[in-house]
Amino acid sequence: MPETNYQPPNEAPPGPIRPVLKGQKALVTGASKGLGQAMAIGFAQAGADVLVNYHTDEEGARQTAKAIEACGRKAEVFQADVASEDDVSAMFHRMTDAFGRIDICAPNSGIQLNARVDEMTLAQWQRVIDVNLTGMFLCAREAIRAFKKQGIDRSVSYAMGKLIFMSSVHDIIPWEGHANYAAAKGGIMLLMKSLAQEVAHLRIRVNALSPGAIRTPMNVEKLTSPEVFERVLLKLIPAKRIGEPEDVARAAVWLASDESDYVNGVTIYIDGGMTLYPGFIGAG
Ligand code: NAD
Repeated sequence: MPETNYQPPNEAPPGPIRPVLKGQKALVTGASKGLGQAMAIGFAQAGADVLVNYHTDEEGARQTAKAIEACGRKAEVFQADVASEDDVSAMFHRMTDAFGRIDICAPNSGIQLNARVDEMTLAQWQRVIDVNLTGMFLCAREAIRAFKKQGIDRSVSYAMGKLIFMSSVHDIIPWEGHANYAAAKGGIMLLMKSLAQEVAHLRIRVNALSPGAIRTPMNVEKLTSPEVFERVLLKLIPAKRIGEPEDVARAAVWLASDESDYVNGVTIYIDGGMTLYPGFIGAG
């Protein structure tokens, strides 16, 4: 990873993740790096076995699997394009073959193909919608089918299943030059709420995580430019620090656990306050 201008906060990190997912089986897409990798490892630290999906970076996925196994948990690595119906179906078959069931599905894969609208090709628009939104639908559909088929196992969770969509602060913050990305993330919000409403009676919980600026490969460019990092990015973050992948992983573990059993159809913003209209700070 290139050097960054990012400095981690001085405070001691929070304590270890508690074993709140003991015996559960999780699937995380795009888990070869970044937030998907951090969530997959977080789930394992909390006691879950994990299917690690990747698209092109097999080596990254193997590293994630190694870290999961180092927690004493099982890992299964599986290549799939989340935009492909056949690939997603095959991935869920592998999940059942490997682990016998699925308790947690965290569709996380996402891409950016940025262009101003008058220069955006249909291919750029379509691919972002296909991966970032249709991929979420395909995974959610398979997960809900599997949850319903297997029923509730009270020895691992009160819920029949948990779906955790990876969205973004750009599900509510408009983003010029990124209309395809923001449209997909905005779409995830109502996909999530509609599914939560539809399956709540089955004790299936559907929620979303919306990170702000988190230190992952997707953000390297912003973190390596002092101009963007100091004068633009930090101005947007009241907490005055970039988020860590672990900030997101901890929220994912909580949403996947019975500790959030009455939480359904919500988006948790993990953004250091980015969605709090930071332009108003000092404007009173
Ligand atoms: P990243 O680029 O590090 O990781 C993206 C992951 O998605 C990779 O593992 C990649 O292989 C996978 N992927 C891409 N296309 C795929 C496909 N067709 N099929 C399967 N997997 C595919 O990015 P990240 O920062 O870890 O982002 C992960 C998610 O978090 C994305 O949905 C992104 O929109 C969201 N997010 C990230 C941030 C941030 O600050 N990093 C902020 C808000 C939202």
